[in-house]
Amino acid sequence: MHDIWNPWHGCVKCSEGCENCYMYYLDGMRGGNGAEIRRTSNAVYPLSRDRKGQFRIQSGEMVSVCMTSDFFLEQADAWRGEAWDVIRRRSDVVFYLLTKRPQRVAACLPEDWGDGWENVFFNVTCENQKRAEERMPILLDLPFRHKGVSCTPLIGPVRLGKYLDSGQIGRVVCGGENYGGRRPCDFDWVRALREECVSREITFCFLETGTVFISDGKRYTLNGKRTQTVQAFRSGMNYEGRPMRFYLTDNWGLPIPEEDLYKKRYCKNCEECAMKLVCNGCSGCGKC
Ligand code: SF4
Repeated sequence: MHDIWNPWHGCVKCSEGCENCYMYYLDGMRGGNGAEIRRTSNAVYPLSRDRKGQFRIQSGEMVSVCMTSDFFLEQADAWRGEAWDVIRRRSDVVFYLLTKRPQRVAACLPEDWGDGWENVFFNVTCENQKRAEERMPILLDLPFRHKGVSCTPLIGPVRLGKYLDSGQIGRVVCGGENYGGRRPCDFDWVRALREECVSREITFCFLETGTVFISDGKRYTLNGKRTQTVQAFRSGMNYEGRPMRFYLTDNWGLPIPEEDLYKKRYCKNCEECAMKLVCNGCSGCGKC
């Protein structure tokens, strides 16, 4: 992803997928504690401008929100109103939300939410079947115009077919576990999820293998995110289904012409990166 906005940092573990949370891992490496929750100095980052007076986040970009926390974390209730206001004011940007707490969402929506805002792409995590059965019915009941599923880390087989049949899901991604976690990801689980998506023309992206990957009964160890995403790309699992369209508007509520929207750029590394299918393009930061 090109841009990440973390209005708060730190989290409370709430399900199996959190066991080896990368935020806790990276904080621990720096001598910190991921359980300490705080508002960050970037709380209104999407409203910030560069020296020329232009927004740092351009019209048409997709911004991942709360990648070191959960947007619907109870401990962040006091800060969420400000974050919603930022999202409301940047109706020209797509905000990617991902949560393991969909049961809290309905009570956390702003008063003017209506049937959902066009610039919000709402996703739930389904790391195993138990969490899929728990979270998918809630996802389908919630008023969002754009919905997706993230099976990350994929730590068991997940079948989503009966939920995908709703026609509400625009995209499914999955990937194995890494950083401090080494629970294996089995290629058979990835293939099965892909089949469910392809048969319904839903975009499917296998982001990365994870550190321990099982293919045809053999166990492989892949160290490094780059290796994992290249191997995922080479597996040929990615599938581009029906396009998701976000009808973005300016401050006046008018549609933004296509030529004024952000254009994705890619570097050489992107050509063999499985995430290219769902990524916002390369910012040249050299970190991915
Ligand atoms: S919800 Fe996400 S950020 Fe929070 S503990 Fe779980 S994995 Fe980590």
